[in-house]
Amino acid sequence: MTSSQTKTCQNCQVQFTIEPEDFEFYEKMGVLAPVLCPECRFKRKAQFRNECTLYNRSCDLCKQSIISMYHPRASFTVYCYDCWYSDKWDPLSYGYEYDPEQPFFEQLQKLTQTVPKNALYRSDVNPSINSPYENFSGGNKDCYFIANSGPEDENCAYSRGMIKCRDVFDCYFIDKSERAYEGISVHNSASVSWGQNVFNCLYSTFLLDCADLQSCFGCVNLRHKKYYFFNEPFSKEEYQKKMSAISGSYHAMEEFYKKFHEFSLRFPRRANNNLKSVDVSGNYIFESKSCHSSFELSYCENVNYAFSVKLAKDAYDIIGHGRNTELLLEVVGAGYGARIMSCWWVENVQNVEYCFSVRNSQECFGCDGLKNKKFAILNKCYTKEQYLKIKATIVKELQQKEEYGLFFPPVLAFFAYNETIAQDNMPVTKEEALAQGYRWEDNVQMTIGKETMKPVEIPDHIKDIPDTIINEILACVSCGRNYKIIPAELQFYRVMTLPLPRKCFYCRHSDRIRRRGPMKLYNRTCDLCKKPIKTNYAPERPEIVYCEACYQQEVI
Ligand SMILES: [Zn+2]
Ligand SMILES: [Zn+2]
Ligand SMILES: [Zn+2]
Ligand SMILES: [Zn+2]
Repeated sequence: MTSSQTKTCQNCQVQFTIEPEDFEFYEKMGVLAPVLCPECRFKRKAQFRNECTLYNRSCDLCKQSIISMYHPRASFTVYCYDCWYSDKWDPLSYGYEYDPEQPFFEQLQKLTQTVPKNALYRSDVNPSINSPYENFSGGNKDCYFIANSGPEDENCAYSRGMIKCRDVFDCYFIDKSERAYEGISVHNSASVSWGQNVFNCLYSTFLLDCADLQSCFGCVNLRHKKYYFFNEPFSKEEYQKKMSAISGSYHAMEEFYKKFHEFSLRFPRRANNNLKSVDVSGNYIFESKSCHSSFELSYCENVNYAFSVKLAKDAYDIIGHGRNTELLLEVVGAGYGARIMSCWWVENVQNVEYCFSVRNSQECFGCDGLKNKKFAILNKCYTKEQYLKIKATIVKELQQKEEYGLFFPPVLAFFAYNETIAQDNMPVTKEEALAQGYRWEDNVQMTIGKETMKPVEIPDHIKDIPDTIINEILACVSCGRNYKIIPAELQFYRVMTLPLPRKCFYCRHSDRIRRRGPMKLYNRTCDLCKKPIKTNYAPERPEIVYCEACYQQEVI
């Protein structure tokens, strides 16, 4: 077995390590070890994943007004869901002969600039019902403005990373849960608000690292409890009396949000929030096995350097989707296939490389928008022999440039840095983004100053909110951006006795990313036994962080 090797990133000059098992995987995929560090590799892929920066524009085919992840000024031809999936256009008509005298990526860019794009990433393999605003999602029903979610979510909104949820609003990384609000890493729970790292909990608010609780408020590191308030037991009557004074009031919830944060700092945290997983490193890894340097995985095996992936096997450097797929390298949103390398949103495919939006196909290289094809290069079909010969020429060029096995270079990116999940997870300034070769969008679609109701005019308690609130335009207390309350949301707040949010979706989403913590692992020592640990709590942070063994001893 090869030993581990330290390399210097060609892009940012940071040193990174390639482990022996990494070499084995690269060999299996027929590529050399990457010349970019994991962070630069993530940023490249993330440029192709704009989940939440949406725009109004019209379909370039049927001219209907649509919601799109492509800026109206972007140079792409954009079609609505129905037009894009229809037979009204032929992707092969955009194809052309590969020219060995020209750089491959320049030719691929020429192709992707002309082939129509689907307005949003909405799969037809497992299509959603009545969920027009969902993006990078599928298999859901009656959902609104959700991303990286599915299947089997119903009546959910403003959330990311959901599987099998119902009536979930403003949550992040949540599965098999009902009636949840402002949750992060919530599993198998119901009627839980403001929970983080919560498992099997019911009717509770402000929980951190708790399991099997019922009717608890403001609790940290508790197991199997009922009627606890800030980790103290109360009678049912006393508990309910306390709740009735708090629930539904914006000011009371704001006050307890701060109190709970201060209270939580007194308790030790786990070094990571991986749950029910074996041999894993990273954070928020759930029911997975042998996964490393990864974040937000569910039900994965042998998955490395990955982010937001469900149900994938044997994969490196992937973002999103992954469902029932194996042997993936450097892909964004690929599912239901095998042997996929350097691709964006491909489904039901095998042996495809450097492709965009290719479905039900095999042996394709550098194609965009194809379906039911074999042996295609730059959207032109060949015989098997011709295909293999041309592919070999391109591979040789990419190998010489040390690009083969990496994702598409930033010049091909569909989105600007600040439109994508790159900015959520590795925030940079406009100047830094431009210096690193990424684009920046100054005119993200939003309105400010159009409010019909000021934040102070919103009644404090949910019981005093009139039905007409859904007609009002509100203004975010944090950034001033206008936002609205949708009918399903109002109904949800009433059922849950929750106050109306005073912040816009984008600020709520950023707050959740902050609560989740950075997508980065730091070297730190366990605050009890002083053993070295890897954690996403930076060494200077105020939280008390324990290694897994010390944490389990303390809590259970
Ligand atoms: Zn780098
Ligand atoms: Zn259309
Ligand atoms: Zn805001
Ligand atoms: Zn320890």
